[in-house]
Amino acid sequence: MKEKLLEIKEQAIGELESIQDISGLEKFRVTYLGKKGLITSMMKRLGELPPEDRPEIGKLANQIKTDLSGLFEDAHGRIEAKGTEEEFYLDITLPGREPARGHLHPISRVNREICNIFMKMGFRVVKGPNVELDYYNFEALNFPKDHPARDMQDTFYISKKVVLRTHTSNMQIRVMESQSPPVSVIAPGKVYRSDSADASHAPMFHQVEGFLVDKNVTFADLKGTLTSFVHQMFDRDTALRFRPSFFPFTEPSAEVDIQCVICRGEGCRTCSQTGWLEILGAGMIDPEVYRFVDYDPETISGFAFGMGVERIAMLKYGIDDLQLFFKNDMRFLRQF
Ligand SMILES: [Zn+2]
Repeated sequence: MKEKLLEIKEQAIGELESIQDISGLEKFRVTYLGKKGLITSMMKRLGELPPEDRPEIGKLANQIKTDLSGLFEDAHGRIEAKGTEEEFYLDITLPGREPARGHLHPISRVNREICNIFMKMGFRVVKGPNVELDYYNFEALNFPKDHPARDMQDTFYISKKVVLRTHTSNMQIRVMESQSPPVSVIAPGKVYRSDSADASHAPMFHQVEGFLVDKNVTFADLKGTLTSFVHQMFDRDTALRFRPSFFPFTEPSAEVDIQCVICRGEGCRTCSQTGWLEILGAGMIDPEVYRFVDYDPETISGFAFGMGVERIAMLKYGIDDLQLFFKNDMRFLRQF
């Protein structure tokens, strides 16, 4: 048995020297050192020996196992180092690999662009809570208790008095209650509606709210501000029209359309053959709202407007599916 063990040792050492890769090493480990390997099976046969020979042979078997394990580790290190060396072999004549550089998401880009245009006109950017009290989201904005927007069907309620804000208009109240006129502020941010996702709806999207309150502010100021915005955002020849509308916190209210950016007013699929595209809602701030923030409607007046960032981005880049903004498909995002 002693000869057999020494024979196995010789054979193993010889084999180990010729192994060149990790898979060969693994095969070696299973053959010699594994649970069903040659050394282990020899050790299992110790019982067949006369009792007086067992200690000596047992000791030898253990010694061989330890030696082979050590040699195995050395070979493992040698083969691994060789692999690394090949992998990192430096050829300075090869062209460099340009590191991948990220860029802004199209929504972030358009959002910044909108904010920059208004900042140049003197508006200040403010941000506020996404989880909002009913008071700031609805009540102080003059939404009656039974207004359909307050329905659970349309709004995510955290509790009876707390909602995920349905518009960034909450910032009108938050800013006006902490600051006296004149104020001119834009509030970009995320808003939430209980809508299922499709090509034109999403449960979360982005809005920019803007408002200005001062002495002698008129609807003409609102028209001038929005016209200037549209001309900078799209191009100088883009026509606008104001259609009468209704919002609880503005009076009078208007929806603002721009001439279709695809067909230039001729009529196409995007504008449903009308030649016009709705881009935002606006109006003069309702005197009822001032009551909540202790402003005197006899001495001041102001306007407010709100627009969807996704909507503007879709028109600007000719995108017809809102969901593309949320899917994080690199093939789409790389185009911007
Ligand atoms: Zn059109």
